[in-house]
Amino acid sequence: MDRTFAIIKPDAVAAGQAGQILGAIEAGGFIVRAMRMLKMSRTQAEGFYGVHRERPFFGSLVNFMTEGPVVVLALERENAVKAWRDLMGATNPANAAEGTIRKRFAASVERNCVHGSDAPETAAVELTFFFSASDLL
Ligand code: GDP
Repeated sequence: MDRTFAIIKPDAVAAGQAGQILGAIEAGGFIVRAMRMLKMSRTQAEGFYGVHRERPFFGSLVNFMTEGPVVVLALERENAVKAWRDLMGATNPANAAEGTIRKRFAASVERNCVHGSDAPETAAVELTFFFSASDLL
């Protein structure tokens, strides 16, 4: 069993879609190993998305991710990283496949309702960004 890190982003939480997204996660065969609701600080959002610091949308992305509460999740499944990326769909919902979470719920390339780690190494870093070792036993 592998693990990946997921976020239900502020747009989806505010729209009351967190429950439906959790349902899709469980229907997708994932075990929710850890889960927490929090409001990201600017420092947390800037650190989490540090790889995008030079991108033109960085400021806007940080504003979005700090505008309201998010749900952070540790998800477990065989091939978890790829399976969660597949269930999320493409970054831009306009390009997301039918039935994916972003196709169903996302409004735009930025306000795209969910995050997922892009590789097992990234998942390990992102999981420990928001969860402590004892959460992940
Ligand atoms: P992801 O791995 O599919 O989440 O995509 P990326 O790592 O490329 O981007 C991180 C996040 O930045 C995305 O999920 C979006 O919320 C946002 N984002 C990505 N590309 C764009 C863009 O072109 N414009 C804006 N405004 N936001 C973007």
